[in-house]
Amino acid sequence: MGTLLKTDEALNNAYSEELAARGVSRRDFIKFCTAITAAMGLPVGMVAKVAETVANPKRPPVIWLHFQECTGCTESLLRATHPTVENLVLDLISLDYSETLCAAAGHQVEEALHNSVEANAGKFILVIEGSIPTAENGIYCKIGGRTAMEIMADIGPKAAAVVAIGSCASWGGVQSSGPNPTGAKGIHEVFTDKPVINLPGCPASPYNLLQTVLYYLTLGKLPQLDEKNRPMLAYGKLIHENCERRPHFDAGRFAQQFGDAGHRQGWCLYKLGCKGPETYANCPSILYGDVGSGAWPVGTGHPCFGCSEEGVGFTKAIHEQADVFTVRPPSLYPEVDTPQGNGLGVGAAAVVGAAAGIAIGASVATAKKTKESDQSSSTES
Ligand code: SF4
Repeated sequence: MGTLLKTDEALNNAYSEELAARGVSRRDFIKFCTAITAAMGLPVGMVAKVAETVANPKRPPVIWLHFQECTGCTESLLRATHPTVENLVLDLISLDYSETLCAAAGHQVEEALHNSVEANAGKFILVIEGSIPTAENGIYCKIGGRTAMEIMADIGPKAAAVVAIGSCASWGGVQSSGPNPTGAKGIHEVFTDKPVINLPGCPASPYNLLQTVLYYLTLGKLPQLDEKNRPMLAYGKLIHENCERRPHFDAGRFAQQFGDAGHRQGWCLYKLGCKGPETYANCPSILYGDVGSGAWPVGTGHPCFGCSEEGVGFTKAIHEQADVFTVRPPSLYPEVDTPQGNGLGVGAAAVVGAAAGIAIGASVATAKKTKESDQSSSTES
């Protein structure tokens, strides 16, 4: 109780006239700070510190480069609303150089980049959007007469930290799909001088950049990363674990084709190719575009296609069935018409599996059964 009162007081103190002048209401400010603290996996006692950081950021210099990409990640950041996440991100950092937002062009903009790198050497965060083409010495992406490979080799070592935003920069994205004529690669495959933080997604959620920067500014250290250098706070869980359609999956209620009764009733999209069971991202909880509940692919009725997952998005066929990683209901797998509530939850399945000492085996067996069930249902139809 004492912590909550102190937090309230600190939040009220952090809310400034400047925020009010920018149209951020006290209510939105408090809501935002509370929600993002929880999303970063920090305790409620940290809300005040996060609020302080948001209100009085240290504004680290950022240089944002574009290589082989569609600018979708920048667009996604700039078009977000309620609260104005683009303002929050742009207020938290000092965006010293961004080709999309630069008013200048040609030699002028090249000079701005050079000056910014020299003035902030060793201090700036380098954000890269887009993959690096490596075939034929990288001639497929040239800016100001230099290839992306040359620019990276020149600017990368001068940065304090490197962030790859979007799936193209993280692991090659759509450009790296077979036959990959330009030899497109993720930044970390080309630039190995220092670790590259990956924020994949097509586009990447601007909240994931915001959370990562906020975490760094609040605690003075990077958030915990997984084995693919993705922040665990955003990519620590499978989409399938947080999906609103998950109870239908556990109960065996699947849409069999677009527009059928199951699809219209919001049943699980696994059999339509949903890659949620093998994709790590926070889309079901963060959503997209700040336009309200359900605003993410599965929420709108389309299977997740695994855009943020290396080896899934742009690699597997869009309606191919996913590999299922988590423990599934095994031999007790319910029929498609099982009434809601009678399904076996994943927690129960895990307990059954553990009790029998075959949790992993059960997982594999059920995943297989799910595929078999699909094959038989497609044969019957
Ligand atoms: S398979 Fe897709 S739609 Fe079904 S529960 Fe998992 S993530 Fe949701």
